[in-house]
Amino acid sequence: MKNILIENKYPVSLIKRKGSKSIRLTYSPINGLRVTFPVWVSYSYAIKFVNTKIEFIKKNYSDYRGISEDFKIASLYQVKFIKTENEKIYHKINADQLEIYFPSRYDIYDQIVQNYTKKISLKILREEAEFYLPKRLKYLADLYGFNINKINVRVLKSRWGSCDTKQNITLNLYLMQLPGHVIDYVLVHELVHTINMSHNSIFWNKVGSFIPNYKQIKKELRLKQPIFSGNL
Ligand SMILES: [Zn+2]
Repeated sequence: MKNILIENKYPVSLIKRKGSKSIRLTYSPINGLRVTFPVWVSYSYAIKFVNTKIEFIKKNYSDYRGISEDFKIASLYQVKFIKTENEKIYHKINADQLEIYFPSRYDIYDQIVQNYTKKISLKILREEAEFYLPKRLKYLADLYGFNINKINVRVLKSRWGSCDTKQNITLNLYLMQLPGHVIDYVLVHELVHTINMSHNSIFWNKVGSFIPNYKQIKKELRLKQPIFSGNL
């Protein structure tokens, strides 16, 4: 990986990636501006490519410094469906758009198109979740003085997070679809479990000492529950 500055102002990370088939530029508040490209593409070609995308960079770059409170994590990418004469389903990431190309004999709601789109969306979500959630959890643990052991990020069917007696915390990668303050509530909830495994009044007082409006956030979170049909 190399980091460069475009027009002496915009930091861009150049990332060679095994398995990558095309060159692409993406922006997210979490990762900043990134160009990913196949191993057989040279860095100098990647830099040339970036220089043709100045307008996109200017439009999307907003003083990226790193993780802050006001990140928009959910729906970084807009999905666009495009019919083709090609017999295969494939996708491209074009700036902030996830383009799904599919044979014209299908409808976008056909299972085959939907399944493919879900698979790719989940992959993108996973990348973002694995980058953001452990960092944020460590940050909050340091801030509030908790010790944690291992952090896992994966799809959980019925919970947003869990904590075991060895202070290992598991987080649901679908957390990334919730607003930042709700994510923080879940993370703090699990952090408090590292010192208190039950949901007693001592537990809730501790949560409330860090997040005074936690009751309201719990209600907000409950509205999201049906997707996973479970409790925290
Ligand atoms: Zn709990």
